Amino acid sequence: SPGATAPGDAVATHCPYCALQCAQTLTRTPDGRLPVEVDGRDFPTNRGGLCQKGWTSAEVLRASDRVTTPLIRTADGGFREAEWAEALDLVADRLTALQEAHGRDTVAVFGGGGLTNEKAYALGKFTRTVLRSPYIDYNGRFCMSSAAAASNRAFGMDRGLGFPLADLGGADAVLILGSNMGVTMPPFVQHLAGARERGGLVVVDPRETVTARLASDDQGIHLAPVPATDMVVLLALTHVVLAEGLADLHYLEERTHGFDAVRRSVASWWPERAETVCGIPADELRRTARLLAAASPSKGGRGAYVLTGRGVEQMTQGTACVTAAINLSLVLGLVGREGSGFGPVTGQGNGQGGREHGQKSDQLPGYRSISDPAARAHVAGVWGVEPDSLPGPGVPAVQLLASLGREGGPRALLVHGSNVVVSAPNADAVRASLSRLDLLVVCDMVPSETALLADVILPVTQWAEEDGTMTNLEGRVLRRRKAVDAPGRARSELWILGELARRLGVSEGFPDDPRTVFAELARASAGGVADYSGIDYDRLDAGEQIQWPCPSAAHPGTPRVFLERFPTPDGRARMTPVDHHAPHDDVRADAPTYLVTGRVLQHYQSGAQTRRVPELDAAQPAPFVEVHPLLAERIGLTEGEEAVLTTARGTATATVRLTESVRPDTVFMAFHWAGAGSANRLTNDATDPISGMPEFKVTAVAIAPARVP
Ligand code: SF4
Repeated sequence: SPGATAPGDAVATHCPYCALQCAQTLTRTPDGRLPVEVDGRDFPTNRGGLCQKGWTSAEVLRASDRVTTPLIRTADGGFREAEWAEALDLVADRLTALQEAHGRDTVAVFGGGGLTNEKAYALGKFTRTVLRSPYIDYNGRFCMSSAAAASNRAFGMDRGLGFPLADLGGADAVLILGSNMGVTMPPFVQHLAGARERGGLVVVDPRETVTARLASDDQGIHLAPVPATDMVVLLALTHVVLAEGLADLHYLEERTHGFDAVRRSVASWWPERAETVCGIPADELRRTARLLAAASPSKGGRGAYVLTGRGVEQMTQGTACVTAAINLSLVLGLVGREGSGFGPVTGQGNGQGGREHGQKSDQLPGYRSISDPAARAHVAGVWGVEPDSLPGPGVPAVQLLASLGREGGPRALLVHGSNVVVSAPNADAVRASLSRLDLLVVCDMVPSETALLADVILPVTQWAEEDGTMTNLEGRVLRRRKAVDAPGRARSELWILGELARRLGVSEGFPDDPRTVFAELARASAGGVADYSGIDYDRLDAGEQIQWPCPSAAHPGTPRVFLERFPTPDGRARMTPVDHHAPHDDVRADAPTYLVTGRVLQHYQSGAQTRRVPELDAAQPAPFVEVHPLLAERIGLTEGEEAVLTTARGTATATVRLTESVRPDTVFMAFHWAGAGSANRLTNDATDPISGMPEFKVTAVAIAPARVP
């Protein structure tokens, strides 16, 4: 089969999971149980390291319940195997009939941040030119949308980290808000060594996470605020920097506008007032602000970085909170300066590329707005269609899922690379939404919880079975390379989209060769913010490590953005005043405890892949809830017993783990499991008004023993 290797051959590729995209070497085994052996490979981000997920990733290729042939729902509620032609004919006929009866908008598409750039691009093009529906969005809405919205507003661009990850090592200070990379992407931690040696690692997290412990003793500071008050911490830090004359006024004058409004907005957040809201002692806030200022270049330091993660982004004030982090970075004069900077730490494997190529409801390839007439004209030209034929913006993921099957909402949904009944907030409501559909088609490699609800499951290739590109958390474009054939009749989504397009009357424009798709993607991105037009497979295969924007074949790429100017109309960063508000579902008498959610080392996202890896499943087999001993004593919970958690959305049960790493007013659950212990049955689907990001990170919960007294 084209691209598959022979036994003993080694293939250079990257891990299937998170946005660090650690470099791997896959060596084809002769006839072992697993088709490849995995090894770490030296690369600027992982420097040869892999985490447990990366080392065991070959197991996913041969998951015992891998879907290897198309499956069609039967009258008795089961599935039967089908030929590709039958399954694709059925899907196309049903889509055609639904669109004839209810209009083009009756079909929606849900993509994923794990899809390759080529697939994300093809999915957006398929939705806009074949289905001609506005309704496409993806699970990256749950992951990075607040950070993206804040970065676009402030800088005119969102490239995750606007600098090589390795730059962190030279800084005196790194401030991390709401990210636990010590668990989610362990090889990242080596880049924090410099800041730790110099006592400058600052971690803001209500839990004493693995990452927070890196900042213990003389290596830094851990601030554990009341959940959902990170904004107050940021406002107070900015207040202290200004009040003590530690700001970089020259930088603010030269490179920003809007500073006066921000100065006024933080004036009332003196540390003693902030302490009453966030619980961090005023002296600790002052000490932290001074540490960051001393590290900044204007005060003679080696540099400082501010990094945000989902902990501050997945809130109804997520965009505002990231904006507060950006404002602090700008006040310190960090952004667009070599050796300093601001950046959100992307989560999903292709969370960055996934939001650049058109599977977001409001965007076209090149990270362009779908409402911009010039962008529509350019992309329509590449696609060979009239600009007026392209639909306008759709709606963000939470809104899209809630509208399914309702009056005027879509009646058919195609899902690619997402397990929404586990990963979306208010998961029981999402399950109910899917049940209202006339047609649910899921492309997946395993029978995920969402796939098991489908009318048709289409089996797809994954990771080591395909070629393509991914864009990592630094905006670096990486080659994913094929090492083995997929089992059975699994096919690439590029092929599936081409076959569906042909059946829906569009015979050209959907090649299944990733190299060809990438070349078109690059042309479509030309002139956009995320400009890939100078990148091609030959350059990547020759070993070039290119970070976008890269506008020509002679351009080396852009490791560090904003050094000269910001891509805003006047070249300056825009500062926007923001203020704190309480979470949408705040603690109260009948739900007196905060529930915060996150990940464990062994599992990735909804767990659809990692729960199928025996070593990972054995290490973290079931849902659990972390409870502080003081809270446990008060409500009568003991280690190892089952607890019932209830929020305004639903109920879940989980095994109690007692730990002092959570605050006594807070419990923690990981969100990797389905069923009775699914954390997202509890989480809140209220969204940020700018980004559409749901408030996964905090909700009010009641917790009690499950036992009958
Ligand atoms: Fe690296 Fe992330 Fe893969 Fe772990 S899961 S090996 S941190 S890319």
